[in-house]
Amino acid sequence: MSPVDDDFRETLEKLFRHEVFRPRDRLDYDGRCALTYDRLRVVGEHLPPGSALLRDLPRLFTLLEWVAIADPSVFLALTLHVCLGLGAVVEFAGDRAEDHVRELDDLSSFGALLVTEAGRGNSHLDIRTEAEYDAATGEFVVRTPDEAARKFMPNVGLPGAPKLGVVYARLRVRGRDHGVFPFVARIRTADGVPPGIRVIALPEAPLLPLDYALVEFDRLRLPRTALLSDDARLDADGVLDDPLGGPDRRLRRALEIRHNAWVASAVALAAVARAGVRNALRHAENRVTASTFTAQRAVLDHRAHQRPLFAAVADCYALTCLVDKVKAARVRSAAGRPGGEEDSAWTPGPGLNRTYGLTKAIAARLADRIVAESGRRCGAHGVFTTGRWVDYQGMAHMLGPAAGDSYLIVLEAARGMADGRHYTPPPEEDVSDVEDLFDPRLWLGLIRTRERRLHHRLTAGVRLARRRGQGAFDAWNNRSLLGNEVVGAHVARLMVEAVLDAVRDHPAAVAGAARALGAMHALAEVSEHAAWYLCEGLLRPDQVRRLADLDNELCDRVQSTIGALPQLLDVPEPLLARRVTR
Ligand SMILES: Cc1cc2nc3c(=O)[nH]c(=O)nc-3n(C[C@H](O)[C@H](O)[C@H](O)COP(=O)(O)OP(=O)(O)OC[C@H]3O[C@@H](n4cnc5c(N)ncnc54)[C@H](O)[C@@H]3O)c2cc1C
Repeated sequence: MSPVDDDFRETLEKLFRHEVFRPRDRLDYDGRCALTYDRLRVVGEHLPPGSALLRDLPRLFTLLEWVAIADPSVFLALTLHVCLGLGAVVEFAGDRAEDHVRELDDLSSFGALLVTEAGRGNSHLDIRTEAEYDAATGEFVVRTPDEAARKFMPNVGLPGAPKLGVVYARLRVRGRDHGVFPFVARIRTADGVPPGIRVIALPEAPLLPLDYALVEFDRLRLPRTALLSDDARLDADGVLDDPLGGPDRRLRRALEIRHNAWVASAVALAAVARAGVRNALRHAENRVTASTFTAQRAVLDHRAHQRPLFAAVADCYALTCLVDKVKAARVRSAAGRPGGEEDSAWTPGPGLNRTYGLTKAIAARLADRIVAESGRRCGAHGVFTTGRWVDYQGMAHMLGPAAGDSYLIVLEAARGMADGRHYTPPPEEDVSDVEDLFDPRLWLGLIRTRERRLHHRLTAGVRLARRRGQGAFDAWNNRSLLGNEVVGAHVARLMVEAVLDAVRDHPAAVAGAARALGAMHALAEVSEHAAWYLCEGLLRPDQVRRLADLDNELCDRVQSTIGALPQLLDVPEPLLARRVTR
């Protein structure tokens, strides 16, 4: 978990002892959604206001971790409220929107973000909701041009839960399109939905229940102050002065708010992955099992149980290291402190923003796998709500497409990297003289070289396609799968580097466990692409054979340090799984 001061930890412990967090079974969908907002209100009562948390990122991250482990739906509602709704108001209006900030801070309304549109893929890049400025009244008239442009799945469907929304719409003045800006609009009060807005509840989403809805605007009138204009200014006559200079840049700027959600999601996903493996380890240590070839003993003594579980623990550790590095970079960048300039992936600005998105994407994929494996290793005891297995896996599944689809984030990153935008491939490293498979120089050398060579193949392919006169669509489309592979290699490299950085910094008590898990993760990464390394002449056949024989040794290394895992993969004790049988 993020390091946390004693006062804050005490506050969090008290918060999760509150009656509202008592486990509830057998609620219907609306009851489940209502409980989410009851819990969110109690979170608000116990903690500093959202705008203060946005200025104190270490505490915000800790809160998100605890909440995600306790209740993923509350995590999502909290993220939408603080990081996106309130976050957008603060980011794009600051002091000019103090009334809205106050309303969201004291939870008179919950925050929501309305960006996605229902009818087209990748709709964030082609938003069609319109806000026409009417200079005669000084108001905006917001409309949904057709069904395809209805806002898709903001959490505004629950009657009685007031929502203040940030709506992404094209600013039009006298018919001219000035690009996409965020506007504040009251979507729902305690009494219902205001005129000019239609809210249609979506079907239930059992993997991460929330009051998702479709929203349609029919000449909704908003005051001029509703425009979150950032550094642009719209005067009363409708003359816009936008220093960004054009709709494309304005859209990119408006979408930057997603970075808050990417980091929050990555933080939460790593936290539930840790909870999953900690619950599974505790189960395995206490579970005595019968067997035909030995006396009764703990299930964790069996290799066949160790190997898949320890692999999940190792991936969880690697994910935690990457996410910790992202958190630190986010804190540094928010404070305007430089750092990490030696690698484009950690350079504040577009390079670091790409890393936020890719970390969210890999976190969703890995957390899904880690939690599924952890749950499976608990057998029939891993199917009940006490371990929140379904909640965690549901969250991992749902955060894949949330805040921008992860696959699209990866493909967008791949295109940028192919063009060399804010990206420099790592140097090729000759590690042919490193014989020891446990030597980190070997892992790093191989993994970096793979990223570099795949990237070279991609850029050469795109160049060749252009020379042959292929159109822009085909030139990229036919190489997008290779682009996906390049990004996979890039993220794998960032993760192994993060592990090795962390291993260097850990206190002695956990350093052995960190080394063992780091080795297991890195060697799994190398093994997965052993055929490629062989073909490229980077590994010899005898090395590949030895790689395949390492399982028992890797397990022994992890097993011998198992006592350090609770400290290394910290999860608040009160939030660990309760026993199924009491
Ligand atoms: C839990 C959850 C909560 C959400 N909350 C909100 C919210 O509060 N407010 C809000 O505005 N939105 C919200 N969303 C919507 C979310 O932002 C969208 O899911 C996301 O933007 C992806 O849009 P889409 O689902 O329309 O996917 P699409 O854009 O249709 O993409 C789906 C798939 O289609 C393919 N695809 C699409 N376009 C391309 C392309 N150009 N190239 C290659 N492949 C492509 C890819 O395989 C991709 O994975 C939420 C989503 C989830 C899951």
